[in-house]
Amino acid sequence: MARAGERRTRQRENILRVIADAGAPVAPREILTRVQSRLKGLGLATVYRTLKLLAESGVVRLVEIPGDPPRYELADKEHHHHFSCRLCACVYEVPGCCGHFEEHLPAGFRLESHEVILFGICQTCGAGRQARESAGSSARALKRTPSGRAKARR
Ligand SMILES: [Zn+2]
Ligand SMILES: [Zn+2]
Repeated sequence: MARAGERRTRQRENILRVIADAGAPVAPREILTRVQSRLKGLGLATVYRTLKLLAESGVVRLVEIPGDPPRYELADKEHHHHFSCRLCACVYEVPGCCGHFEEHLPAGFRLESHEVILFGICQTCGAGRQARESAGSSARALKRTPSGRAKARR
């Protein structure tokens, strides 16, 4: 029992470190890739289970981008928004807040919280797209998965 508890603590610490170091919300699969070398035999199910517990205890927060797998970030971060690149599916943090959403609410409504996701093309993809467009090929052909692997058939 003690050993199992120890292993769980180590898993939790490693997963938390990956999330803290990422600087942007990370998906479970990406977390697994980054901790696998340190935690032999760790599976995706354990990563999901650990993340669920961490979220329940308020240490991490779920970041949901429609159509994407769930991502997680530290819950105690300062309020910020997210940017989702539609080409590489990477999610970035956008610091600050445009705020004043209460102004758009109908009378009698009370705002409690908000989330803003901006969609577009990140700097890296924008630069690549320009190069490809001048070469005459379509940027859409290169659709990457969230972990950055190319999905296009060879
Ligand atoms: Zn991108
Ligand atoms: Zn905001």
